[in-house]
Amino acid sequence: MKVPLLDLKGQYNSIKKEIDDAVQRVIDSQYFIMGPDIAKLEEEICTYLKCKYSIGVSSGTDALLLALMAIDIKPGDEVIVPTYSFFATAGVVARLNAIPVFTDIDPVTFNMDVDRMEKKINSKTKAIIPVHLYGQSADMDRIMEIAKKNNLYVIEDAAQAIGTQYKDGRFVGTIGHIGCFSFFPSKNLGGFGDGGIVTTNDSELEHKLRIMRVHGMKPKYYHKAIGGNFRLDTLQAAVLRVKLPYLDSWSEARRRNAALYAKYFVRSGLSEKEGQLEWNDKNKVLLPKAVYKDLGFRNYHIYNQFVIRVEKRNELWDFLKSKEIGCEVYYPVPFHRQECFAYLNCSDDDYTHSNKAAEHTLALPIYPELSEEQIKYVVDSIAEFVMYKVA
Ligand SMILES: *Cc1c(COP(=O)(O)O)cnc(C)c1O
Repeated sequence: MKVPLLDLKGQYNSIKKEIDDAVQRVIDSQYFIMGPDIAKLEEEICTYLKCKYSIGVSSGTDALLLALMAIDIKPGDEVIVPTYSFFATAGVVARLNAIPVFTDIDPVTFNMDVDRMEKKINSKTKAIIPVHLYGQSADMDRIMEIAKKNNLYVIEDAAQAIGTQYKDGRFVGTIGHIGCFSFFPSKNLGGFGDGGIVTTNDSELEHKLRIMRVHGMKPKYYHKAIGGNFRLDTLQAAVLRVKLPYLDSWSEARRRNAALYAKYFVRSGLSEKEGQLEWNDKNKVLLPKAVYKDLGFRNYHIYNQFVIRVEKRNELWDFLKSKEIGCEVYYPVPFHRQECFAYLNCSDDDYTHSNKAAEHTLALPIYPELSEEQIKYVVDSIAEFVMYKVA
């Protein structure tokens, strides 16, 4: 049986007519730049996320870059980011000649360790970028409290977490000063190419974000600030508008798949239960833990990725490849170990949990259209590996 890591064709086929019509409508209009679908998508995203403003942008990376430009991050400013995330979280800071300051993660949620983050704050610190990794919220109450005390901006990297709710039911990306989302095709709400959106509840920030999306220009050809071309394509907005009403059902299907994994992992004796095992038990699989489950909110986790931990990760990865099961490692090299950040002279000892995560985690297929048979086959294959290769 073949189990790809992600198969977008099933989703497209289920809504093909609607998508094709929307795309054709934009083509017929020839209104490719800032067409009416942009403002409509922004309105619909605001309604969905219960926030005041949203501004469609060219990618999740540009969402983060634009956010940092809007809060006026200057060369030499420090911005605290988790060392364990997709590259963009740190790359955007360095691109503004500011200093990304890396902090370790919590080993259970893979999100920023808030206690360690607080210790990194000094007089040069201007902002914190918590990441809601894999689709689960970071500890926003504590982050906001620390930010307020130290007069810092909080830019949420919610690229993997559109629709994720925090423990009080608020949507991530609407809690900090600016939220950044990605519509990269593999995210829960994926476009047909690159795209993203920024959110805020602050009208001053909204104004800055909006003009800086188009070169800081207002009125036309008069530039108050230096922005860039950070526009979302109308074609992408049209596709995303078709998909948005389905987002919750797709995230629900991912949760169903996560529950099926848990059921089969426990049944096979490979796991005790979600998030309950000791790290590094070599014959066991550690399942991801949804820490805000059972609080009455639907999207306590949206499982953009379903990430397990195992002792012999690389061997298991090879074995699953031989079984035609698609897996991926998010992420094999934390920022403090990246060649491009060698100039920051980070001490590897500061990042124990991120280093372990880089070594022991593996993302299994979790996309909504996955069948129960496929999930069972993945678990059976992992059981086979443990039985023959580890024991
Ligand atoms: C995908 C992602 C981004 C970047 O989004 P793009 O749309 O690919 O530019 C940023 N941060 C995280 C955590 C991501 O997963």
